[in-house]
Amino acid sequence: MTHVILRSCCNDATCVPACPVNCIHPTPDEPGYGTTEMLYIDPDGCVDCGACVDVCPVEAIAADYDLTELNERYLDINALYFANPAVQGYSSTPAQAHRPTWAGENAPLRVAIVGSGPSACYAAETLLAVRGLDVEVHVYERLPVPWGLVRFGVAPDHAPTKAVTASFMRTAGRANFFFHLNVEVGLDLTHEDLMAHHHAVVYAVGARSDRRLDVPGEDLPGSRAATDFVAWYNGHPDAAGASFDLSAERAVVVGNGNVALDVARILVSDPASLARTDMAAHAVAALRESKVREVVVLGRRGPAQAAYSNPELLELGHLPGVDVVVEPDGFEVDDATEAALKAEPWSAAARKVGHAREYAANAPSGAGRRIVLRYSASPVEVLGTERVQGLRIARNELVPGPDGTLRARQTDRTEDLDCGLVLRSVGYRSTPLPGLPFDDATGTIPNAAGRVVAGQDPLVGVYVTGWAKRGPSGVIGTNRRCAEETVQTLLADHAAGNLNPPIGTTEALTELILERAPHALDYRDWRAIDAHERALGKEHGRPRTKLVDVAEMLAVARGVAVS
Ligand code: NAP
Repeated sequence: MTHVILRSCCNDATCVPACPVNCIHPTPDEPGYGTTEMLYIDPDGCVDCGACVDVCPVEAIAADYDLTELNERYLDINALYFANPAVQGYSSTPAQAHRPTWAGENAPLRVAIVGSGPSACYAAETLLAVRGLDVEVHVYERLPVPWGLVRFGVAPDHAPTKAVTASFMRTAGRANFFFHLNVEVGLDLTHEDLMAHHHAVVYAVGARSDRRLDVPGEDLPGSRAATDFVAWYNGHPDAAGASFDLSAERAVVVGNGNVALDVARILVSDPASLARTDMAAHAVAALRESKVREVVVLGRRGPAQAAYSNPELLELGHLPGVDVVVEPDGFEVDDATEAALKAEPWSAAARKVGHAREYAANAPSGAGRRIVLRYSASPVEVLGTERVQGLRIARNELVPGPDGTLRARQTDRTEDLDCGLVLRSVGYRSTPLPGLPFDDATGTIPNAAGRVVAGQDPLVGVYVTGWAKRGPSGVIGTNRRCAEETVQTLLADHAAGNLNPPIGTTEALTELILERAPHALDYRDWRAIDAHERALGKEHGRPRTKLVDVAEMLAVARGVAVS
């Protein structure tokens, strides 16, 4: 008997130190941790104690005897990881929790964190967990509701992933944690204000923008960023007024990452099942009327180079009433790649190709809705006069780049796909912040281990974590290690006496916020909104019904009756 890690693994490695026999890998200290799709339990080491189940923040661990048809493959998937000779012979000594330590004077430290998504929450949690450190954490969020990408990015049908907010909520409820919601840094308060009133400022602002395709027709109505679609179906207040034309039978999603698979899955899912999630009510209503029956997911490289992860690819095969079809043209795997995949069947790439081949071998059921995986093709023009009527794509060939990885090179073989919606899903991008340096090439805030640098000069007291630090990569829990590194750097500066003390007391800071942002909300206000949303949802068998209107959020927080 063994326990098994499942699709919703968030990689934050909370389970690793909980395991008495160190059978969960890769651990944060092992080389594969930074790039692994998920963590795995060694079935030969597991003593079936269930300690990992108790601490997992996202309900991603089950005993093998509790597996169902939907997740039984994860038994083999966990075991396969340990077939790799490179990961055998790991220590069976229980791993240590990986937390920054504090060895300085016990002087109170006041830290501002800008943003309230996973990277911000892990930074706050890390700071508050440092033994012996007297610290006050102030979290500034421009929206009246917290959790950033967990609320507005994670797909509504991935409820277990959202369970991580329970641990964020525990952190936010601590006595020396202060929420300043509905306060925009750069508008209500400046960077200089934050620097004056805190020892240190940590930017955890994520990546608010998206990359473009730079092809003709990209701005036609009906051609949008997938990130806008995600924000819309997740009820982001900025996207509440958006609409998406779902009146054509085919949609094309450009890109081969996990966001592409999320939006493809949502577009063909049964609206009745989406209605039982926390998807925004306006999106459920629009998807009920949707005429979309086929979503083409377009990868510019082959199935071995796809950026999505195996759990998300496998999930497509479990969608009721949906066929997953693989377009043969472009699905070929070159000989060198094939040999490499055979040599390492445990690798993520080998498994991606294996799963895609299973889909290719399946006879379509004619279920009515389809996801078509199409590889080695790039968009060259969005077609249409008044709005999107099609997408011209070019076949690519794969050629080695200077670093040896295979790159896509367009050929002159083109094809037109009729469609009414094009969603480009080719990556998020951070945006520059007033007063801070920005690296336009990588779309990140330049930093050394989280300390912001301007040219060669470290900006002491200014830090960054999450996607703004390392770019839009990794899953929710990847942000824990990232935040721990940033906090360790901040604490080293504090211990060295390099941080400027704040000009006033916490009370003076509170007064400043009241004066500049009288509309600011705190933890109790958020609890009121949270309870209201849950109660609304309960009436309809949903985990919550999200408020999408800022004025309504404020009214609920202030206890004003909302009809
Ligand atoms: P991503 O993983 O970086 O994928 C971007 C995709 O866009 C790649 O397939 C890339 O192809 C393609 N692309 C880039 N430029 C292109 C162009 N000009 N034309 C055609 N294709 C182009 O980004 P993402 O999907 O936005 O995801 C962001 C992060 O969030 C990832 O770490 C992801 O794993 C994570 N996430 C996770 C989940 C989950 O765990 N369920 C869900 C959503 C997001 P190349 O590989 O050829 O560059």
